[in-house]
Amino acid sequence: MPSPFIVSTAELFRHRGARHQVVRSGRLPGVELSAARLTDDDVTVDVILEAQGETVTMTGTATGTWTGECRRCLETTSGEVVTELSEVFEPEPVEGETYALERDHLDLEPVVREALALALPLAPLCDEACGGPDPGGHPVGVEDEADAAAEDADAEPSADPRWAALDQLRFDR
Ligand SMILES: [Zn+2]
Repeated sequence: MPSPFIVSTAELFRHRGARHQVVRSGRLPGVELSAARLTDDDVTVDVILEAQGETVTMTGTATGTWTGECRRCLETTSGEVVTELSEVFEPEPVEGETYALERDHLDLEPVVREALALALPLAPLCDEACGGPDPGGHPVGVEDEADAAAEDADAEPSADPRWAALDQLRFDR
């Protein structure tokens, strides 16, 4: 099956200077940072493409969902990641600056992978008010964190956020 992120450029070059909206969705497995990664859900790319001379400019957004580990409580958490795209495709791309334009198509995937990887949260939080692990429920110790997280996966959902906020006041100072 051809990649949903491959876009034919024939129409673009027939109408140089015209703005073409292109919306594509598909999975992008393997996009990750240390603490967060894209889920298996589709990423949606919504861009305007415009041919100018021998190049194609692209502006728009890519939207996906991520999952990762909360930096305070270590519970699995998730969220939406949206990134702005503003790129140029050209026949002879400049490494690190522009992307390859093939004879009759371009591939949005490398651009979107790069942009989404940079937009993933470096230090995810399940909630701004997350108070971290229940201090009574888990002994504090780096070695225990992985075990605690594994146990928590089966445990009840995180504590009442009002108490979490109180915990934060108490322990973050
Ligand atoms: Zn948390």
